[in-house]
Amino acid sequence: MADRDGLIWLDGEMRPWREAKIHVLTHTLHYGMGVFEGVRAYETAQGAAIFRLREHTDRLFNSAHILGMTIPYDRATLNQAQCDAVRENGLSSGYIRPMCFYGSEGMGLRADNLKVHVMVAAWSWGAYLGEDNMRRGIRVRVSSFTRHHVNVTMCRAKANGNYMNSMMALQEALRDGYDEALLLDTAGYVMEGSGENIFIVRDGVLYTPDLTSALDGITRRTVMTLAAEIGLPVIEKRITRDEVYIADEAFFTGTAAEVTPIREVDGRAIGCGTRGPITERLQSLYFDQVHGRRGEHPEWLTLV
Ligand code: PMP
Repeated sequence: MADRDGLIWLDGEMRPWREAKIHVLTHTLHYGMGVFEGVRAYETAQGAAIFRLREHTDRLFNSAHILGMTIPYDRATLNQAQCDAVRENGLSSGYIRPMCFYGSEGMGLRADNLKVHVMVAAWSWGAYLGEDNMRRGIRVRVSSFTRHHVNVTMCRAKANGNYMNSMMALQEALRDGYDEALLLDTAGYVMEGSGENIFIVRDGVLYTPDLTSALDGITRRTVMTLAAEIGLPVIEKRITRDEVYIADEAFFTGTAAEVTPIREVDGRAIGCGTRGPITERLQSLYFDQVHGRRGEHPEWLTLV
């Protein structure tokens, strides 16, 4: 990824992609104390538009606040930087990665003399879990790794270091021949995927875990709004892994994963073992929404 044409916004200015570099003593590289976002831009009839940009930027600022990190730019500047990164890289759609990280002024853990840097990159990125899987669904295993405890890492923060847990879980799942991991919380209840929130469907009702140690996903919120708009009840509650096994349908949500059906968990078919009708309906509503084909929520799209 490092060797390509294009531009990356770094500390207030656009730099050539290959020159957007940092020192090996960058503090965040050593300890993982940084915050980031994953945002998508979609093609709409009016041109490329970023989906729920304000909400993503708000979450970035909240993540920084939780970690005690002061971002040296305001929200408007970072919103503009994200639009510029899409536009100036000539993207009609793509993935946007803003990140705030500490510099290389010192290596101590007190981190009280460090500069906060901000970068925004954007590139083209298709279906995160595979194009075919958007139709037929993915195979998931319950992870042997537990999702963070709320008082060990800060689960409301989208913090760099938190993702070691996600990567351990995902790599284990991939090694075992699955597509994605499902992490349980420290009490053993279903929490989320390595980079997605989870929903199950039973008897026409949508269920999703309470946000305890799961990330407050913007796609999760979007899907809950869409479900309400088509009269589908949504209940947030504690969910056990065997409730997932006997669900009629299950799916993951995430900016990268969008709405990805789950066809199998731990070798058990979920419902009919393929994308279910409610999942399909919500997936198609989601794509209509992000591409600006619905009249509702025009404020969720920011033209670049
Ligand atoms: N949980 C985790 C751990 C994630 O990394 C993500 C992706 N940001 C999500 C859930 C989904 O969040 P969103 O819908 O805001 O992308």
